Amino acid sequence: MKFLFRFLLIVFCIFYSSKIKADFLTLDSHIDIPFDYMTNPEHDPGNKTDMQVDFQKMLEGNLDGGFFIVYVGQSELDKNGFQDAKKKAIIKFNAIKKMVEKYPERIVLVKNPSEVYQAKREEKLFAAIGIENGYVIGEDIELLEYFYDLGARYMTLSHIGHNQISDSSLPKKSLKNDIEMHGGLSDFGKIVIKKMNELGMMIDISHVSDKSALQAVALSKHPVIASHSGVRSVADHPRNIPDNIIKEVAKKGGVIQVVAFSSYVKVNKDRTNSIIKLRDSILKMTGDMNFLPEKHMKLAEYKNGMDEINKDFPIPDIDNFIDHIDYIVDLVGIDYVGISSDFGGGGGINGWSDASQTYNITNSLLMRGYSNEEINKIWSENFLRVWKTVSKNIS
Ligand SMILES: [Zn+2]
Repeated sequence: MKFLFRFLLIVFCIFYSSKIKADFLTLDSHIDIPFDYMTNPEHDPGNKTDMQVDFQKMLEGNLDGGFFIVYVGQSELDKNGFQDAKKKAIIKFNAIKKMVEKYPERIVLVKNPSEVYQAKREEKLFAAIGIENGYVIGEDIELLEYFYDLGARYMTLSHIGHNQISDSSLPKKSLKNDIEMHGGLSDFGKIVIKKMNELGMMIDISHVSDKSALQAVALSKHPVIASHSGVRSVADHPRNIPDNIIKEVAKKGGVIQVVAFSSYVKVNKDRTNSIIKLRDSILKMTGDMNFLPEKHMKLAEYKNGMDEINKDFPIPDIDNFIDHIDYIVDLVGIDYVGISSDFGGGGGINGWSDASQTYNITNSLLMRGYSNEEINKIWSENFLRVWKTVSKNIS
């Protein structure tokens, strides 16, 4: 009996470890970086840092790479606002360039899916670039091409607050936003969709209003992505995607990259309200207009406030996160779902609080019964399929 038990245990261990060791290609579609990335040694991913993503953490957690984000917050829709946003965007493009130039043996900038596979073969990390908030192009359609040439391969049409392209899922009080500004996409927004199709840049419907998302999916000739969003039926938050839009995205061959952002993984209104209140008080204190994770999350007032909130309302965990993945798989199938952390931008859940814990996601997917092939689809193949389609079928 004892022998049989040992034998079964050994068989199980061999089986389980071979599954864990399966070589997944892991891609995180949304990693935020601060404005002083690569200029401040504390924000140089080649160093040991407090950031949620640096090279060492990626290697520890088996995260191969991802989209590093050129995010600029929403301000006024006027010439000064647009000019300022463009300047800020370029700072982040330069920072990513500086990173790959400083560490050519460790990480490469990828501009298409074959370069992702190449990086994996060479055992290097990879960084692609996404723009978060079409605000940065102002009303200058040519800027899209300029940013594409700098490496941008997707653009989130809006962020918090309506912009010149699209209505947002979250109107911004400080900009005196009504519920809607354009009734979905603006006329300029429709031109932007066309131009993105022409360039081979992926259209990202995370953050936009439901109307905008539906219009963008219908108007785009190619599949679209939601680079970092959850499922509204699982967690009822405007930033999450409702079933009808998930179905439309899937019908067109796109992908929803489920995000590990605690307020979207599990809705706890008291927790969310407490975080909003805390952030508002920090903005009031500093006099800033937009929340800057790299600056504000370091303040003792923020840290203490978050500790209190986490004590009162626990952070959601990986099981809650995978519920979103399961839901999409049940609704439309295995081919339309992926993974994003939003690390550096407020992302992080219990069990996946930084890149070094990435393997926990893989393990949990295995425990839920997903096969290696299915996990590879979730981790990267689905997203890369969309990227391939969008970049090959340039119209
Ligand atoms: Zn975001």
